[in-house]
Amino acid sequence: MVIWILDQSRHWKPVGLKDGLISVGVSDGRAAVVSPDEGNAVASLIPYQDLNGRRRCFLICRRGSHVRCKGLPILAGVRVLSDKDEIALGNGPEARFYYSQESKPQIVPFEEGPRPTYCARSKARITQGTPAVQCPSCGLWYIETDEMPAYTYCGEPCVGCGRPTTTDYSWAPDPLPALRPEGQRLWEKWCSPRTMKPQVSKRSSKVTPAADSR
Ligand SMILES: [Zn+2]
Repeated sequence: MVIWILDQSRHWKPVGLKDGLISVGVSDGRAAVVSPDEGNAVASLIPYQDLNGRRRCFLICRRGSHVRCKGLPILAGVRVLSDKDEIALGNGPEARFYYSQESKPQIVPFEEGPRPTYCARSKARITQGTPAVQCPSCGLWYIETDEMPAYTYCGEPCVGCGRPTTTDYSWAPDPLPALRPEGQRLWEKWCSPRTMKPQVSKRSSKVTPAADSR
């Protein structure tokens, strides 16, 4: 599971979700991972495992925040996220991020379970410690060694789900269109967090000394 957030050059970059909680907020107009204690943290992501053993993720919003998921407000401030959900933390195209259920395929030493597991492509039994890859979409296992690169074999897709067998993510959000100067000016005027800060009263806060009471 990952979230895709924009970096300083407005390119989407993945941030992996491990077991702990991470908080998100808006920093310089962009959605960002922040400390849960920071004042700009507006929501937290909490990964968990459901009753079917699938890893899922809760989104919990701070009270009074205006977080939206796919354009809709989040009822009761809690939601179980679905693959490719778009979450907006504030105004503007950069104050949003995407959640993806996908994990990056990794070559790991295989751990044998109570039942034998067979490579989805070569049909060979996968034994304890054999370098292997699990398809992040459908869960099928493949042997991946120099002698038998069954996962990446000839660039063929996964036999179970058709996912491309690259060892990178197969999905990322669409790139943001470049801001034209006029769009940049309007963004600065209406959506920038600098212009959305509460206005401090210009009236003097100096306390007038009380009249001398005798
Ligand atoms: Zn698959």
